[in-house]
Amino acid sequence: MPAQQQTSSSPSASSSFPQSETLAQEAERHMPGGVNSPVRAFRAVGGHPLVFSSAEGCHLHDVDGNSYVDFVGSWGPMILGHAHPSVIHAVTEAAQSGLSFGATSPREIELAAKIKEFFPSIEMLRLTSSGTEACMSALRVARGFTGKAGILKFEGCYHGHSDCLLAKAGSGALTLALPDSAGIPPSVTQHTYTVPYNDLEATRQLFRETEIGAIMIEPVAGNMGLIPPLPGFLEGLRDLCDEYGAVLIFDEVMTGFRLSAGGAQGLYKIKPDMTVLGKIVGGGMPLAAYGGRADIMAQVAPLGPVYQAGTLSGNPVATAAGLATLLQLQARPEIYPMLEERGAQLQAGLEQALRDAGVPGCVQRVGSMWTLFFTSELAVENYAGAKTSDTARFARFFQGMLRAGYYLPPSQFEAAFLGAAHGFDEIEGLIATARKVLLEIA
Ligand code: PLP
Repeated sequence: MPAQQQTSSSPSASSSFPQSETLAQEAERHMPGGVNSPVRAFRAVGGHPLVFSSAEGCHLHDVDGNSYVDFVGSWGPMILGHAHPSVIHAVTEAAQSGLSFGATSPREIELAAKIKEFFPSIEMLRLTSSGTEACMSALRVARGFTGKAGILKFEGCYHGHSDCLLAKAGSGALTLALPDSAGIPPSVTQHTYTVPYNDLEATRQLFRETEIGAIMIEPVAGNMGLIPPLPGFLEGLRDLCDEYGAVLIFDEVMTGFRLSAGGAQGLYKIKPDMTVLGKIVGGGMPLAAYGGRADIMAQVAPLGPVYQAGTLSGNPVATAAGLATLLQLQARPEIYPMLEERGAQLQAGLEQALRDAGVPGCVQRVGSMWTLFFTSELAVENYAGAKTSDTARFARFFQGMLRAGYYLPPSQFEAAFLGAAHGFDEIEGLIATARKVLLEIA
């Protein structure tokens, strides 16, 4: 079935993507792969990427006038839905007062204080412009604090594209089979150690053999598809860090303000030493943050010897979007139980559809983050498990859903997102369409 026309109320009217295709070809003349971030290029699912012109609520509109129910949500930030009136109002008002001062403005202070209300483990923080920057900086600070070079990340986790974190990386790097990027001298990653996600014994072994100053982890992994931590795994990491004097860094760029108001650490009740935030904290604008214990953050210049800076850090328009988003989340705490309920509805429906179609697969979900893995494994617990997925079948599923007006992440190794704007009807629509598409690709 073709994508939904913008004027239609059901995802069934007909169209193809001529304008998107023309623009995508033009884009390829100017930008590598025609995109500014690799996974947007549709390499894993085939065809040209769509070019979008507008969005509101849970709907995306492409340049050909097709509409889609959006389960990507700009890769996580749009928990309130696109173009939420209070966020748009805040951004418009802020823009009228100037786009950047290169000096402190009141909203930065307000946003920093608000983040600390949501995340009690953060005693002091820095705002940056991207999650990559925030992860890179958090790691530098942790190393400065401990004086130890060794860091541990887990296979398939993605912490942005800074050199020493692009080792066995997830997200687009995993999708394009480039988990260890070219252009990074081995000397740069010589202190980066990796073990399988959820493997506490391998982690323990590494700590016994190697001096590790910090663990960085997605407490719920979203960048190899959605993989929850096994019971006891995060607690075990906390204990190891305490035992060996290492800094535990939760990369909550994806999970922060999403899995609960206080992120994954709020949900699982584990207190990391440092936290990285992104996506929702910027409400759709380029803004991220890292922070944590005051004694660790006291290492950061100008207080301490670890240098980190940014021309646009704490940008007044970006902080307006972030603050408006957090204020909405604070005013509407019922969002989180609602997302859990709708997530459960979606998961149950997709699991039944898989069974009815006889297609091997499992649906993994924590709150509003989910992935349908086309695998015969009962559950996916790590990178190796995720790699058992039938990516060709995923591509056919993706294309079938897209033609019917449902926009999913264009890779098997990415989490999809629900937001407050997805209602019962959109979720039932997704399930009914998935049921048809699964039968077609069985
Ligand atoms: N950390 C995690 C967990 C992410 O999911 C991402 C991006 O998807 C990043 C870090 C990097 O953030 P950014 O794309 O803003 O640089």
